[in-house]
Amino acid sequence: MDPQPELELEPARGSRARELRFQQALFINGEWRSAATAATFTVEDPSTGETIATLPRAGAEETIAAIDAAHAIFADWKRVPVLQRADLLLKVAQLIHQYREPLAQLAVLEQGQPLEASRLGIDYAASFFRWFGEETRRIYGRTIPHPDPRRRVSVEYTPRGVAGLITPWNAPLASPAKKVAAALAAGCPVVLKPAELTPLSALALAWLIQQAGFPPGVFNVIFGDAPAIGTQFVEHPAVRTISFTGSLAVGRKIYSAAAEQMKHVALELGGNAPFIIFADADLEQATSDLLSLKAANSGQICVTANRLLVHHSIAGDVERRLVETYGALRVGDGFSANVEQGPLISRQAVDRVEGLVRGSQQAGSRVLCGGRRLELGPNFYPPTIVSEIPAHARLLREEIFGPVLPIQSFSEPEEALALANETRHRLSAFAYTQSLELATRCARELDFGVVGVNDPRPISCETPFGGVAESGIGREGGSEGLLDFMEARLVAFRS
Ligand code: NAD
Repeated sequence: MDPQPELELEPARGSRARELRFQQALFINGEWRSAATAATFTVEDPSTGETIATLPRAGAEETIAAIDAAHAIFADWKRVPVLQRADLLLKVAQLIHQYREPLAQLAVLEQGQPLEASRLGIDYAASFFRWFGEETRRIYGRTIPHPDPRRRVSVEYTPRGVAGLITPWNAPLASPAKKVAAALAAGCPVVLKPAELTPLSALALAWLIQQAGFPPGVFNVIFGDAPAIGTQFVEHPAVRTISFTGSLAVGRKIYSAAAEQMKHVALELGGNAPFIIFADADLEQATSDLLSLKAANSGQICVTANRLLVHHSIAGDVERRLVETYGALRVGDGFSANVEQGPLISRQAVDRVEGLVRGSQQAGSRVLCGGRRLELGPNFYPPTIVSEIPAHARLLREEIFGPVLPIQSFSEPEEALALANETRHRLSAFAYTQSLELATRCARELDFGVVGVNDPRPISCETPFGGVAESGIGREGGSEGLLDFMEARLVAFRS
């Protein structure tokens, strides 16, 4: 396939459809390639169901080619002078900013969230290239004073080798960016497998990385037969780290298969975040923060509030405020002006969310708003608030990953903390209170990877992010984000 050196999205056929004008192929060893077979798959616009791209379907053969290309360049890439590596990563950040608008439109097209939110997602993706471009200069290692004065002992951080990265569809550019920027900064070449539902932003990233001047083979993108690609990540000896973001079920499979090969695995899995509002909280602040957290990406964010726990004395007030605000969000196509919530990613996602709400209704809970599919199209589901939910309902136990907010009330702080911790999906938790004592207690006792006290968005490129228990292993972002891609090697000299 001939390279087309442009990344453009032209309005076509009316106001919302976009004509894609950039490479739609696999990116292996610096070349745009088709698959070995003629097999293809299609990408759909979740708002309309229209096919927006037809892509080659890679399997084992293409994955091996991509891993081999990455492995072949590893020895060179890890020796690239650190300033040169930093400049390349910073150049990608700059290019992402330069192409912010087409990238944001592309994200709306393949993922569905409203345009303004997509623009912020693009900025977020760029921030990781900037952060890790800066961090690559600070991979210091350390010297350890040894009891034997003849010995000089130090720890050196060195890149592990080829990184196999697997990302989900809910943040089509930012999710790959977090992993790719960290791996490249650490000195690891990358094979990225984005979600087949949203592979176009990853292809755009490949194009930007090509423009930035990275050597061929350092960054590769493949997609198609996910299990076949995952199997090669596990089995090919050159892959030394597998970094996966997605569901617990798939994460578990990869983790157990990789154990056979003794590979380093990093997992960013789902959450079941409690959002606690204590009786003394600033209600205005708490409810507006909850609204902004829950409205984002139609609730399809791993850190979003999955359960609201509210003190019984203020429960009526909080419910009323949320029905008036969350329940009134404008739902529609992400390209339409003033839309605050887009579609869900797929029909199956709507079926699942609807099933959770129906199930809890059948068990006796009360739907305060929403709860019925919208006429807008098969992927649209309204902001929904549910209360009086029996403790055993799946709605409280599972990650919803959609625009549904279950509410539970509590009487004592102990009860709130116990309910909050009653999950093994421990990615993030939020608590609102004006009491210093309660705030400190929440920080101490909420056993989650991220705890936000009076803060709904504590995560940025500078901060280490990840879960505990069944929410995963490893951290993305922060200086910790490099660790999954490096070995701490002990080097000793004796005189
Ligand atoms: P998923 O596990 O179905 O898919 C994730 C990725 O894995 C996709 O690229 C998919 O193609 C790939 N995949 C599927 N089967 C595979 C296999 N057998 N081998 C290798 N790869 C395979 O998850 P999803 O539905 O795309 O994403 C939603 C989930 O991701 C939610 O649970 C959400 O909480 C989680 N998530 C977590 C974070 C985090 O940072 N912790 C961020 C976003 C999403």
